[in-house]
Amino acid sequence: MGGLFGTISKQDCVTDLFYGTDYNSHLGTRRGGMAVYDGAVFTRAIHNLENNYFRTKFEPELPQFKGNSGIGVISDTEPQPLLIHSHLGSYAIVTVGRIVNMEALTRRALDRHLHFSETSGSAVSMTEMVAMLINECDTFAAGIENVFLHLKGSCSLLILTDRGIYSARDKLGRTPLILGRREGAFALSSETTSFANVGFTVEKYLGPGEILFVTADGYEQIRKPGERMQICTFLWVYYGYPSSYYENINVEECRYRCGAALARNDSGEVDFVTGVPDSGVAHAIGYSNEKKLPYKRAYVKYTPTWPRSFMPQNQATRELVAKMKLIPNPNIIQGKRMVLCDDSIVRGTQLKDNVRILTEQGAREVHVRPACPTLIFPCEFLNFSTSRSSLDLAGRKAIKELEGREDAHLDEYATPGTDRYHAMIETIGKKLRCTTLKYQKLDDLITAVGLPRERLCTHCWDGTGSF
Ligand code: SF4
Repeated sequence: MGGLFGTISKQDCVTDLFYGTDYNSHLGTRRGGMAVYDGAVFTRAIHNLENNYFRTKFEPELPQFKGNSGIGVISDTEPQPLLIHSHLGSYAIVTVGRIVNMEALTRRALDRHLHFSETSGSAVSMTEMVAMLINECDTFAAGIENVFLHLKGSCSLLILTDRGIYSARDKLGRTPLILGRREGAFALSSETTSFANVGFTVEKYLGPGEILFVTADGYEQIRKPGERMQICTFLWVYYGYPSSYYENINVEECRYRCGAALARNDSGEVDFVTGVPDSGVAHAIGYSNEKKLPYKRAYVKYTPTWPRSFMPQNQATRELVAKMKLIPNPNIIQGKRMVLCDDSIVRGTQLKDNVRILTEQGAREVHVRPACPTLIFPCEFLNFSTSRSSLDLAGRKAIKELEGREDAHLDEYATPGTDRYHAMIETIGKKLRCTTLKYQKLDDLITAVGLPRERLCTHCWDGTGSF
């Protein structure tokens, strides 16, 4: 997915930028970058985060950075920020999102004899493509509008200029962007979690497609928010940091409501509730509070060497790391019946491992309760699932097993109460080898978030939504 942070201040901003960007680290795994403007020149650094953390990589370089304004990024894709020299002046740019029509946009540019210098793997860099679309216009505002017009997918961005920072939230608001304020300074972030410890408070949640121009003295709205919003529901279920707010709705509290909804739909007897760390824990606490059942840590996360949700790009390594991070506690598990909450089931391989270990440690019953419905449709809008095809999803694998093909009767499979839905859940449950499996209902998830359904992207579960 990726996260952005930018700040502009009457004083040097480097420490704020460094920590503010670092607090977006849970959103991305591949590259981190910062660019600072000191009134004359831009200074930039980019590092690979696949083998180390943002703070460790950037700390030694901090003395080289000086300036009152800067932008940073944690990216799941290409190296950023890019420094651009154009007729609009020199600027630095960072983006979060995904371009689905990259091939068509690349062809359009090459047909005009334009060229690209950055690459992301063997492909054109999304950020360079966005910069190219901006440079086609006479102003930054018109340029960002041009991005919204041509780009299929999603894109939130920050542009650092010699006068201030342009910030734009994705046209349909799939990813968040929030403006923070402090005496003599402003900040922009994907996560409000970035604000507290650097002294900012939320000034404004940017609306879908809203553009602000921000200086140390104030901000100006360059484009009003659009009517339509499709913010990613997965932010509350899984991606978001517990202390963050999107649309003024707190992530941790939302997870409690998800767990409570699961509990209200359950009538079986168990001894305690547990959660798969990290995000499964909040869902489990919500379940346990609602049912007035003890919450216990059947698994604990080994934090001394795994301080954050570090996710290598390679799937096999990722699964090994996920397994190694969690340690079962036999004393809690032996002879007990438990509800095991997790945020979601993607492939199901990790959860299968979790259930197996609990059973091997002597658990009598393991009732699996994911906080969201069965994932049936891969994400087309963010990088959530670029590394997986629909066939990677546990739901689709079950459908393939039942139908001989993975794309048959998807509407029925996505509808609780149908025979096909029950057959799919039974097939997934057998694979997990759990005692019972019961997913969250989509209506309950939407109620737990608290926004009207039409303001949320629910494509993962019901296939709805468009560009
Ligand atoms: S498809 Fe799923 S992951 Fe992608 S934006 Fe929509 S809710 Fe989020």
